[in-house]
Amino acid sequence: MPTKPPSLDACYYDGLSSRRRPVRLSVAGGYLLLDGPDGGRSVLAAAVRVSEAHGTAPRTLRFAGESAFCEAGQGPALDALLSALGYRDGIAARLQNRWRWAFVSLASVGLVLLAAYLYGLPWGARLIAPHVPIAAMRSLSDEALAQLDKYLLKPTALPEERRRKLQDGFQELAAADPALARYGDSLALGFRASPRIGPNAFALPGGQIILLDELVALCDDDAEILAILSHELGHLNKRHSIRMLIQSSVVAAITAVWFGDVSYAAGVVGGALLNSGYSRDMEREADDYAAGMLRRRGGSPALLASALEKLEASHLARRAEKERDEDGKSGRIMDWLSSHPDTGERIRQLRENPAAD
Ligand SMILES: [Zn+2]
Repeated sequence: MPTKPPSLDACYYDGLSSRRRPVRLSVAGGYLLLDGPDGGRSVLAAAVRVSEAHGTAPRTLRFAGESAFCEAGQGPALDALLSALGYRDGIAARLQNRWRWAFVSLASVGLVLLAAYLYGLPWGARLIAPHVPIAAMRSLSDEALAQLDKYLLKPTALPEERRRKLQDGFQELAAADPALARYGDSLALGFRASPRIGPNAFALPGGQIILLDELVALCDDDAEILAILSHELGHLNKRHSIRMLIQSSVVAAITAVWFGDVSYAAGVVGGALLNSGYSRDMEREADDYAAGMLRRRGGSPALLASALEKLEASHLARRAEKERDEDGKSGRIMDWLSSHPDTGERIRQLRENPAAD
């Protein structure tokens, strides 16, 4: 069965006036045929000059030695016609188009993923977090803590009396917020040491807060340590840890599917638990929560501010030390500040606004 010869509607300009005439283009016997209401004509295929494809601009067919030309749009019908005419696009034009499309599609996929990561994921996590059962979070946290104990954490060296005092202070803080009751027995203060991590305290999504000896040593005043613990309780009250866990799990699951590597995904979740990189909004919420709690206990948010100052000084010292360490084998700093952005601004807020609620 013979296939239909390619043809195409176009506009014809005689090159003398701006008048536009509709024509039907087709190809026969090595000629380009133009048929319109005003009559028809034919042009030898070899005399047809086609403009290169630029974006979506219509392509122009010119005829050697003439000022007349046709505007023929773009698309598969024109491609078929040009192909029948024996015309081939220049390699440059084809590559330019292909690269342009490759770039545009890559950029749009990237933008969609970025938007989903920046907005969709936190939004979804915020929506889901209140419905996640604490028991499920607890077993995940236990698993993660076991991993951390294996690789990064050491048993505490704090005297029992010191621990008991901190434990009592912590229980008193926790009891002051009825909303924390949903964590039940899981809400607990655990003690560890880690020279590698340095001064740090972190809340696991199941409700455990881990306090490192290095932080206790840095804040010689228990009131400052309790201020930091209030901030961590704020992360638990607002379910920030659960939200971060959901977000990192989604990223990990996608990574696992993408790379087919589940162990890598597990590592991502573990890393996120320790160093969750809370958002600025989350930090502000946890600071506000801590400030309120400190005020209700007759203390001042300045306690958290002074603890933050000590942490910042320690963070800067550790960073300088790391930069001197040319091996760089000890990896990056994982202390409290590396997961807590905007310290200077937060210290200012806590100091300037000690009385506000
Ligand atoms: Zn925080």
